[in-house]
Amino acid sequence: MILFKNIDYLDENFKWIKNANILIKNKKIDKIFFENKNLDFSKFDHVIDGKNKLIMSGLFNLHSHVPMTLLRGYGEGLNLQDWLYKKIFPFEATMTARDTYYGALLGISELLSSGTVSFSDMYLRLQGIVDAVDQSGIKANLTNTATGMDPHLIYTDDSSYIEEKYVLDYIKSHPGTTVRTDAGIHAEYTSTPQLAEQVIDFAKQNNLSIQIHVSETAKEQKECQARHQGKTPIEYFYSLGAFEQKCILAHGVYATDNDLNIVKENNAVLVHNPASNLKLGSGFANIKKWLDNGNHVCLGTDGAASNNDLDMFQEIRLAALLSNGLNRDANSITPIDMLKISTINGAMAQNQTESGCIKEGNYADLILIDLDTPNMQPIYDLPTNLVYSINQKNIYLTMVNGEILYQDNEFKTIDIEKVKAEVKKIQKEKLNILS
Ligand SMILES: [Zn+2]
Repeated sequence: MILFKNIDYLDENFKWIKNANILIKNKKIDKIFFENKNLDFSKFDHVIDGKNKLIMSGLFNLHSHVPMTLLRGYGEGLNLQDWLYKKIFPFEATMTARDTYYGALLGISELLSSGTVSFSDMYLRLQGIVDAVDQSGIKANLTNTATGMDPHLIYTDDSSYIEEKYVLDYIKSHPGTTVRTDAGIHAEYTSTPQLAEQVIDFAKQNNLSIQIHVSETAKEQKECQARHQGKTPIEYFYSLGAFEQKCILAHGVYATDNDLNIVKENNAVLVHNPASNLKLGSGFANIKKWLDNGNHVCLGTDGAASNNDLDMFQEIRLAALLSNGLNRDANSITPIDMLKISTINGAMAQNQTESGCIKEGNYADLILIDLDTPNMQPIYDLPTNLVYSINQKNIYLTMVNGEILYQDNEFKTIDIEKVKAEVKKIQKEKLNILS
């Protein structure tokens, strides 16, 4: 049992509630109460004083490639297609499960210390990532997205399927794990319709959501339309039946009005990744339009090779600034909208119905923010400070399933010095192989 004593929190309506006591028990927010005069504090395992601190839901990063921390800064100054084919894919071809384990632990350390409690991820050598997620205690929806341009490719013979199956079996045999899985198709331009259909069947058989990259660049959009009788990537995946499962669609920079309607009518999710889209020169989406259309909108960092960080609060700030600038409207998106997109919307997209906001009965997937720093004072409107003024140093504590994973610059489940040393070794090895 952990008690946060005399602490402020942001409730499910993003209202600032002051001086509460929040009891964490059996992974959950057991009780929120206000009177503690006669309380025997010795009966709790741990009492954390909430003075000058705020509890809010942790953040949900709905699109990432977390082990790509290993490639941070490796392929610079290239747009998406050259970046992928000249730098990223050759590097990734050398990766082992040991590499993705350390790459994922480095990425998870960054996520936890910047306030993220759960992420959706596409990558390869999932065995290493599963171990990193389980060890760290963070929540994650992992997929190895299928790729392949051979129309005769049998999905069940492919390494992406074998790794998906590994994760499914792992989850079955580890009931307490924080690892979850989705199906995944990398993109229209990296797979055939035959392969995509097999993945969609697999998703249906196992009732999984499907993570896909769509409409990231103008080039992708145009070439897809040329290949598939004018269909956009979203129309194309719709025609294959992908939307019969919940689809988590990353990017959508060039999504058309018709695309947005397909996404909405089929309860699919659009994930905005502004930093990565800007950095690779792809453009960026107008999320005000998505929200006005009634779409389910989430936020993601994408990988650290195209961002180049995994800090969701930076992404929140950037997304809000871009929306206001693009729409020439200082109120195009409210701070509360941005916080919703990054918390409850993410939890719902991952089907975590008992997470994403602070209320009794929910899983204790939360963060403590230090409000007593120069950049957070004064406070006229708390959500505004949380969107525009906060930085990573304000994250004091990150808790997932009621367990403290990060507190006061210390990782409780990760030996960060060892991880950094191993990552340096991997960097050296890869540069030798690839030179
Ligand atoms: Zn991506």
